[in-house]
Amino acid sequence: MNHDRTLTTSADSWLRANLPDAPVFLFCPDRLAETAAAFLAGFPGTVSYAVKANPDPALVEGLVAAGITVFDVASPAEMALVRGICPEAVLHYHNPVRSRDEVAEGLRFGCVSWSVDRAGELAKLAALPRGTEVAVRLKLPVAGAVYDFGAKFGAAPGEAGLLLREVAAMGLVPSVTFHPGTQCPDPAAWESYIAAAARVAASAGVRLHRLNVGGGFPARRGGEAPDLRAIFAAIERARDVHFGADGPDLVCEPGRALCAEALMLALRVKAVAPEAVFLNDGIYGGLAEWRDMGPLDRLRIFAPDGTPRSGAGLPRVVFGPTCDSLDRLPEPVALPEDLAEGDFLLIEGMGAYSRALVTGFNGYGARSMVRMPAG
Ligand SMILES: *Cc1c(COP(=O)(O)O)cnc(C)c1O
Repeated sequence: MNHDRTLTTSADSWLRANLPDAPVFLFCPDRLAETAAAFLAGFPGTVSYAVKANPDPALVEGLVAAGITVFDVASPAEMALVRGICPEAVLHYHNPVRSRDEVAEGLRFGCVSWSVDRAGELAKLAALPRGTEVAVRLKLPVAGAVYDFGAKFGAAPGEAGLLLREVAAMGLVPSVTFHPGTQCPDPAAWESYIAAAARVAASAGVRLHRLNVGGGFPARRGGEAPDLRAIFAAIERARDVHFGADGPDLVCEPGRALCAEALMLALRVKAVAPEAVFLNDGIYGGLAEWRDMGPLDRLRIFAPDGTPRSGAGLPRVVFGPTCDSLDRLPEPVALPEDLAEGDFLLIEGMGAYSRALVTGFNGYGARSMVRMPAG
Protein backbone atom coordinates (compact mmCIF):
# COMPACT_ATOMS: atom_id res chain seq x y z
CA MET A 1 0.00 0.00 0.00
CA ASN A 2 1.24 3.50 -0.85
CA HIS A 3 0.31 4.72 2.54
CA ASP A 4 2.61 2.14 4.16
CA ARG A 5 5.44 3.04 1.83
CA THR A 6 5.14 6.74 2.71
CA LEU A 7 5.17 5.83 6.36
CA THR A 8 8.25 3.63 6.25
CA THR A 9 10.05 6.25 4.14
CA SER A 10 9.30 8.95 6.68
CA ALA A 11 10.31 6.65 9.55
CA ASP A 12 13.64 5.86 7.85
CA SER A 13 14.40 9.47 7.07
CA TRP A 14 13.49 10.61 10.59
CA LEU A 15 15.90 8.02 12.02
CA ARG A 16 18.70 9.00 9.64
CA ALA A 17 18.24 12.67 10.47
CA ASN A 18 18.05 12.23 14.24
CA LEU A 19 20.23 9.18 14.92
CA PRO A 20 18.55 8.50 18.28
CA ASP A 21 20.82 6.62 20.67
CA ALA A 22 17.93 5.37 22.85
CA PRO A 23 14.93 3.28 21.74
CA VAL A 24 12.17 5.37 20.16
CA PHE A 25 8.55 4.60 19.42
CA LEU A 26 7.29 6.03 16.14
CA PHE A 27 3.58 6.78 16.45
CA CYS A 28 1.40 6.73 13.32
CA PRO A 29 -1.92 8.42 14.20
CA ASP A 30 -3.30 7.62 10.73
CA ARG A 31 -2.85 3.89 11.20
CA LEU A 32 -4.55 4.12 14.59
CA ALA A 33 -7.50 6.00 13.09
CA GLU A 34 -7.78 3.47 10.25
CA THR A 35 -7.86 0.51 12.62
CA ALA A 36 -10.40 2.16 14.90
CA ALA A 37 -12.59 2.94 11.89
CA ALA A 38 -12.39 -0.69 10.73
CA PHE A 39 -13.56 -1.93 14.14
CA LEU A 40 -16.31 0.68 14.46
CA ALA A 41 -17.63 -0.01 10.97
CA GLY A 42 -17.13 -3.78 11.00
CA PHE A 43 -17.91 -5.09 14.47
CA PRO A 44 -21.65 -5.82 14.88
CA GLY A 45 -21.97 -4.13 18.29
CA THR A 46 -20.19 -1.82 20.73
CA VAL A 47 -16.40 -1.48 20.50
CA SER A 48 -14.53 -0.76 23.73
CA TYR A 49 -10.77 -0.36 24.02
CA ALA A 50 -8.87 -2.48 26.58
CA VAL A 51 -6.58 0.22 27.97
CA LYS A 52 -3.93 -2.13 29.31
CA ALA A 53 -2.64 -2.89 25.79
CA ASN A 54 -1.31 0.66 25.54
CA PRO A 55 -2.25 3.36 28.05
CA ASP A 56 -0.21 6.11 26.40
CA PRO A 57 -2.28 9.32 26.54
CA ALA A 58 -1.52 10.10 22.87
CA LEU A 59 -2.93 6.72 21.89
CA VAL A 60 -6.06 7.07 24.04
CA GLU A 61 -6.55 10.59 22.62
CA GLY A 62 -6.20 9.21 19.09
CA LEU A 63 -8.85 6.57 19.76
CA VAL A 64 -11.23 9.14 21.25
CA ALA A 65 -10.68 11.35 18.18
CA ALA A 66 -11.48 8.31 16.00
CA GLY A 67 -14.81 7.81 17.78
CA ILE A 68 -14.06 5.26 20.53
CA THR A 69 -16.00 6.28 23.66
CA VAL A 70 -16.14 3.02 25.63
CA PHE A 71 -13.12 1.72 27.56
CA ASP A 72 -12.32 -1.50 29.38
CA VAL A 73 -10.37 -0.39 32.44
CA ALA A 74 -8.78 -2.73 34.98
CA SER A 75 -7.60 -0.34 37.70
CA PRO A 76 -8.42 3.04 39.26
CA ALA A 77 -5.33 4.49 37.56
CA GLU A 78 -6.71 3.52 34.14
CA MET A 79 -10.09 5.03 35.09
CA ALA A 80 -8.41 8.33 36.01
CA LEU A 81 -6.37 8.29 32.81
CA VAL A 82 -9.39 7.79 30.55
CA ARG A 83 -11.64 10.25 32.43
CA GLY A 84 -8.85 12.85 32.23
CA ILE A 85 -8.82 12.58 28.43
CA CYS A 86 -12.51 11.92 27.79
CA PRO A 87 -14.70 13.02 30.75
CA GLU A 88 -17.83 11.46 29.22
CA ALA A 89 -16.16 8.09 28.48
CA VAL A 90 -18.17 4.96 29.29
CA LEU A 91 -16.10 2.77 31.63
CA HIS A 92 -16.31 -1.02 31.88
CA TYR A 93 -14.50 -2.34 34.95
CA HIS A 94 -13.68 -5.82 33.67
CA ASN A 95 -11.00 -6.95 36.06
CA PRO A 96 -12.96 -9.64 37.92
CA VAL A 97 -10.97 -9.48 41.17
CA ARG A 98 -10.95 -6.18 43.08
CA SER A 99 -10.07 -4.99 46.54
CA ARG A 100 -12.87 -3.26 48.44
CA ASP A 101 -11.10 0.08 48.01
CA GLU A 102 -10.96 -0.54 44.25
CA VAL A 103 -14.72 -1.29 44.22
CA ALA A 104 -15.28 2.10 45.91
CA GLU A 105 -13.07 3.80 43.30
CA GLY A 106 -14.95 2.09 40.47
CA LEU A 107 -18.20 3.46 41.91
CA ARG A 108 -16.69 6.93 42.27
CA PHE A 109 -15.58 6.88 38.62
CA GLY A 110 -19.06 5.77 37.54
CA CYS A 111 -18.16 2.44 35.91
CA VAL A 112 -21.31 1.11 34.23
CA SER A 113 -20.32 -2.51 33.67
CA TRP A 114 -18.47 -4.85 36.02
CA SER A 115 -17.30 -8.42 35.50
CA VAL A 116 -17.19 -11.23 38.07
CA ASP A 117 -16.05 -14.83 38.04
CA ARG A 118 -16.67 -16.02 41.63
CA ALA A 119 -19.26 -15.64 44.35
CA GLY A 120 -16.95 -13.88 46.81
CA GLU A 121 -16.24 -11.13 44.29
CA LEU A 122 -19.93 -10.74 43.42
CA ALA A 123 -20.70 -10.29 47.13
CA LYS A 124 -18.28 -7.34 47.15
CA LEU A 125 -20.50 -5.62 44.55
CA ALA A 126 -23.58 -5.40 46.80
CA ALA A 127 -23.32 -1.58 46.84
CA LEU A 128 -23.69 -1.23 43.05
CA PRO A 129 -26.78 0.75 42.09
CA ARG A 130 -29.63 -1.56 41.04
CA GLY A 131 -29.74 -1.89 37.28
CA THR A 132 -25.95 -1.87 36.88
CA GLU A 133 -24.62 -4.42 34.39
CA VAL A 134 -22.61 -7.28 35.86
CA ALA A 135 -21.04 -9.59 33.29
CA VAL A 136 -20.16 -13.10 34.41
CA ARG A 137 -16.78 -14.09 33.02
CA LEU A 138 -17.03 -17.53 31.46
CA LYS A 139 -14.10 -19.84 30.83
CA LEU A 140 -13.81 -22.87 28.60
CA PRO A 141 -10.88 -25.12 27.84
CA VAL A 142 -10.48 -23.50 24.40
CA ALA A 143 -7.19 -23.59 22.54
CA GLY A 144 -6.29 -21.32 19.67
CA ALA A 145 -4.76 -18.19 21.15
CA VAL A 146 -1.10 -17.67 21.87
CA TYR A 147 -1.74 -18.09 25.55
CA ASP A 148 -4.78 -19.05 27.54
CA PHE A 149 -6.63 -16.29 29.37
CA GLY A 150 -8.84 -18.88 31.11
CA ALA A 151 -5.82 -19.89 33.18
CA LYS A 152 -6.36 -16.95 35.53
CA PHE A 153 -9.94 -15.73 35.33
CA GLY A 154 -13.31 -17.19 34.52
CA ALA A 155 -16.08 -19.40 35.91
CA ALA A 156 -16.74 -22.83 34.42
CA PRO A 157 -20.21 -23.12 32.84
CA GLY A 158 -21.97 -24.60 35.90
CA GLU A 159 -20.63 -21.96 38.24
CA ALA A 160 -21.31 -19.23 35.67
CA GLY A 161 -25.00 -20.20 35.64
CA LEU A 162 -25.21 -19.87 39.43
CA LEU A 163 -23.54 -16.47 39.26
CA LEU A 164 -25.94 -15.23 36.57
CA ARG A 165 -28.90 -16.13 38.77
CA GLU A 166 -27.34 -14.44 41.76
CA VAL A 167 -26.66 -11.27 39.71
CA ALA A 168 -30.33 -11.15 38.74
CA ALA A 169 -31.43 -11.84 42.33
CA MET A 170 -29.36 -8.85 43.50
CA GLY A 171 -31.29 -6.56 41.14
CA LEU A 172 -28.29 -6.20 38.83
CA VAL A 173 -28.36 -6.73 35.07
CA PRO A 174 -26.82 -10.05 33.95
CA SER A 175 -24.49 -10.29 30.96
CA VAL A 176 -21.79 -12.75 29.97
CA THR A 177 -18.21 -11.92 29.07
CA PHE A 178 -15.23 -14.03 28.04
CA HIS A 179 -11.79 -13.66 26.53
CA PRO A 180 -10.64 -16.30 24.05
CA GLY A 181 -6.94 -15.56 24.72
CA THR A 182 -4.73 -12.95 23.14
CA GLN A 183 -3.68 -13.02 19.46
CA CYS A 184 -6.33 -15.62 18.62
CA PRO A 185 -6.59 -16.13 14.85
CA ASP A 186 -9.38 -18.72 14.89
CA PRO A 187 -13.05 -17.63 14.71
CA ALA A 188 -14.00 -21.06 16.11
CA ALA A 189 -12.73 -19.97 19.55
CA TRP A 190 -15.40 -17.23 19.68
CA GLU A 191 -18.04 -19.60 18.29
CA SER A 192 -17.43 -22.16 21.07
CA TYR A 193 -17.68 -19.46 23.70
CA ILE A 194 -20.87 -17.96 22.24
CA ALA A 195 -22.50 -21.41 22.05
CA ALA A 196 -21.54 -22.07 25.67
CA ALA A 197 -22.81 -18.66 26.81
CA ALA A 198 -26.19 -19.44 25.24
CA ARG A 199 -26.35 -22.84 26.98
CA VAL A 200 -25.36 -21.37 30.34
CA ALA A 201 -27.95 -18.57 30.11
CA ALA A 202 -30.70 -20.96 28.99
CA SER A 203 -30.06 -23.50 31.73
CA ALA A 204 -29.88 -20.73 34.35
CA GLY A 205 -33.16 -19.32 33.02
CA VAL A 206 -31.60 -15.86 32.68
CA ARG A 207 -31.97 -13.53 29.71
CA LEU A 208 -28.66 -11.88 28.92
CA HIS A 209 -28.57 -8.14 28.51
CA ARG A 210 -25.31 -8.20 26.52
CA LEU A 211 -22.64 -10.62 25.39
CA ASN A 212 -19.10 -9.29 25.58
CA VAL A 213 -16.85 -11.32 23.31
CA GLY A 214 -13.65 -9.96 24.81
CA GLY A 215 -10.43 -9.04 23.12
CA GLY A 216 -8.07 -11.54 21.56
CA PHE A 217 -8.47 -10.24 18.00
CA PRO A 218 -5.18 -10.90 16.24
CA ALA A 219 -2.75 -8.25 15.06
CA ARG A 220 -0.51 -8.72 12.05
CA ARG A 221 2.69 -10.47 13.10
CA GLY A 222 4.22 -11.69 9.84
CA GLY A 223 2.70 -12.19 6.40
CA GLU A 224 -0.72 -10.78 5.67
CA ALA A 225 -2.91 -8.77 8.01
CA PRO A 226 -5.44 -11.08 9.72
CA ASP A 227 -8.99 -11.07 8.39
CA LEU A 228 -10.89 -9.40 11.20
CA ARG A 229 -14.07 -9.17 9.13
CA ALA A 230 -14.26 -12.97 9.00
CA ILE A 231 -14.07 -13.07 12.81
CA PHE A 232 -16.71 -10.34 13.14
CA ALA A 233 -19.03 -12.24 10.78
CA ALA A 234 -18.51 -15.51 12.67
CA ILE A 235 -19.33 -13.79 15.96
CA GLU A 236 -22.56 -12.30 14.65
CA ARG A 237 -23.62 -15.57 13.03
CA ALA A 238 -22.90 -17.54 16.21
CA ARG A 239 -24.94 -15.07 18.29
CA ASP A 240 -27.89 -15.41 15.90
CA VAL A 241 -27.65 -19.21 15.67
CA HIS A 242 -27.27 -19.89 19.38
CA PHE A 243 -29.51 -17.21 20.87
CA GLY A 244 -32.13 -16.92 18.12
CA ALA A 245 -33.82 -13.73 17.00
CA ASP A 246 -33.88 -12.09 20.41
CA GLY A 247 -30.18 -12.45 21.23
CA PRO A 248 -28.13 -10.12 23.41
CA ASP A 249 -26.36 -7.04 22.02
CA LEU A 250 -22.69 -7.63 21.35
CA VAL A 251 -19.70 -5.82 22.85
CA CYS A 252 -16.02 -6.39 22.13
CA GLU A 253 -12.97 -5.13 24.01
CA PRO A 254 -9.91 -5.38 21.77
CA GLY A 255 -6.57 -4.19 23.05
CA ARG A 256 -3.86 -5.58 20.81
CA ALA A 257 -5.70 -5.44 17.49
CA LEU A 258 -6.70 -1.79 17.97
CA CYS A 259 -3.28 -0.40 18.81
CA ALA A 260 -0.60 -2.77 17.45
CA GLU A 261 -0.22 -1.14 14.02
CA ALA A 262 -0.01 2.37 15.45
CA LEU A 263 3.56 2.14 16.74
CA MET A 264 6.90 1.11 15.32
CA LEU A 265 9.87 0.58 17.59
CA ALA A 266 13.31 1.75 16.47
CA LEU A 267 16.32 0.21 18.23
CA ARG A 268 20.09 0.49 17.82
CA VAL A 269 22.89 -2.05 17.93
CA LYS A 270 25.31 -1.13 20.74
CA ALA A 271 27.93 -3.79 20.09
CA VAL A 272 28.45 -6.85 17.92
CA ALA A 273 30.47 -9.92 18.90
CA PRO A 274 30.87 -13.12 16.84
CA GLU A 275 28.28 -14.98 18.94
CA ALA A 276 26.23 -12.16 20.40
CA VAL A 277 24.61 -8.82 19.69
CA PHE A 278 23.92 -6.13 22.30
CA LEU A 279 20.85 -3.98 21.61
CA ASN A 280 19.73 -0.81 23.35
CA ASP A 281 16.47 -2.54 24.35
CA GLY A 282 15.37 -5.96 25.53
CA ILE A 283 12.87 -7.94 27.57
CA TYR A 284 12.77 -5.33 30.36
CA GLY A 285 11.81 -2.76 27.74
CA GLY A 286 9.94 -2.74 24.46
CA LEU A 287 10.72 -6.39 23.65
CA ALA A 288 8.98 -7.78 26.76
CA GLU A 289 6.47 -9.79 24.72
CA TRP A 290 9.16 -11.58 22.71
CA ARG A 291 9.44 -14.06 25.60
CA ASP A 292 5.74 -15.01 25.65
CA MET A 293 4.66 -14.46 22.05
CA GLY A 294 7.62 -15.71 20.06
CA PRO A 295 9.91 -13.92 17.63
CA LEU A 296 8.94 -10.75 15.81
CA ASP A 297 9.62 -10.91 12.12
CA ARG A 298 8.35 -7.54 10.87
CA LEU A 299 11.83 -6.23 11.23
CA ARG A 300 14.10 -4.18 8.95
CA ILE A 301 17.75 -3.59 9.65
CA PHE A 302 19.79 -0.76 8.13
CA ALA A 303 22.97 1.22 8.67
CA PRO A 304 22.80 4.80 10.02
CA ASP A 305 23.09 6.09 6.41
CA GLY A 306 20.07 3.99 5.41
CA THR A 307 21.92 1.14 3.64
CA PRO A 308 19.88 -2.02 4.20
CA ARG A 309 21.64 -4.93 5.89
CA SER A 310 20.62 -8.05 4.09
CA GLY A 311 23.50 -10.46 4.42
CA ALA A 312 22.68 -14.08 5.19
CA GLY A 313 21.23 -14.57 8.65
CA LEU A 314 23.66 -15.60 11.34
CA PRO A 315 21.97 -16.85 14.53
CA ARG A 316 23.25 -14.91 17.52
CA VAL A 317 22.31 -14.46 21.14
CA VAL A 318 20.63 -11.07 21.55
CA PHE A 319 21.23 -9.23 24.81
CA GLY A 320 19.42 -6.16 26.09
CA PRO A 321 21.13 -3.12 27.62
CA THR A 322 20.93 -3.90 31.36
CA CYS A 323 23.59 -5.66 33.46
CA ASP A 324 21.23 -8.53 34.25
CA SER A 325 22.24 -11.78 32.56
CA LEU A 326 18.55 -12.74 32.17
CA ASP A 327 18.23 -9.74 29.85
CA ARG A 328 18.40 -11.72 26.61
CA LEU A 329 15.91 -12.92 24.03
CA PRO A 330 14.90 -16.54 24.68
CA GLU A 331 16.25 -17.95 21.41
CA PRO A 332 19.16 -16.89 19.19
CA VAL A 333 18.00 -14.60 16.39
CA ALA A 334 19.26 -14.83 12.79
CA LEU A 335 20.61 -11.33 12.08
CA PRO A 336 22.49 -10.26 8.93
CA GLU A 337 26.16 -11.20 9.06
CA ASP A 338 27.12 -7.64 8.05
CA LEU A 339 25.31 -6.22 11.09
CA ALA A 340 27.40 -3.45 12.68
CA GLU A 341 27.50 -1.19 15.70
CA GLY A 342 25.09 1.73 15.31
CA ASP A 343 22.69 -0.12 12.95
CA PHE A 344 18.97 0.45 13.31
CA LEU A 345 16.37 -2.25 13.84
CA LEU A 346 12.95 -0.95 12.89
CA ILE A 347 10.13 -3.20 14.08
CA GLU A 348 6.55 -2.71 12.90
CA GLY A 349 3.34 -3.54 14.73
CA MET A 350 4.72 -2.67 18.18
CA GLY A 351 1.78 -0.66 19.56
CA ALA A 352 0.45 -3.37 21.89
CA TYR A 353 2.05 -4.63 25.11
CA SER A 354 5.34 -2.99 24.26
CA ARG A 355 5.30 0.59 25.49
CA ALA A 356 2.96 -0.57 28.29
CA LEU A 357 5.52 -3.08 29.59
CA VAL A 358 8.66 -0.95 29.55
CA THR A 359 10.34 -0.91 32.96
CA GLY A 360 12.92 1.55 34.25
CA PHE A 361 15.25 -1.28 35.24
CA ASN A 362 18.91 -0.23 35.38
CA GLY A 363 18.00 3.26 34.16
CA TYR A 364 16.82 2.19 30.70
CA GLY A 365 13.09 2.98 30.82
CA ALA A 366 13.00 6.50 29.41
CA ARG A 367 12.07 6.71 25.76
CA SER A 368 10.33 9.10 23.50
CA MET A 369 7.42 8.65 21.17
CA VAL A 370 7.69 10.58 17.92
CA ARG A 371 4.66 11.34 15.81
CA MET A 372 4.99 10.35 12.16
CA PRO A 373 3.41 12.64 9.58
CA ALA A 374 0.29 11.51 7.78
CA GLY A 375 0.97 9.13 4.90
C1 LIG B 1 -6.30 -7.77 28.19
C2 LIG B 1 -7.78 -7.79 28.08
C3 LIG B 1 -8.40 -7.46 26.87
C4 LIG B 1 -7.61 -7.17 25.60
O1 LIG B 1 -7.02 -8.32 25.11
P1 LIG B 1 -6.27 -8.31 23.69
O2 LIG B 1 -5.80 -9.69 23.52
O3 LIG B 1 -5.18 -7.31 23.81
O4 LIG B 1 -7.26 -7.89 22.66
C5 LIG B 1 -9.77 -7.44 26.83
N1 LIG B 1 -10.50 -7.72 27.93
C6 LIG B 1 -9.96 -8.03 29.11
C7 LIG B 1 -10.85 -8.32 30.26
C8 LIG B 1 -8.58 -8.08 29.23
O5 LIG B 1 -8.03 -8.40 30.40
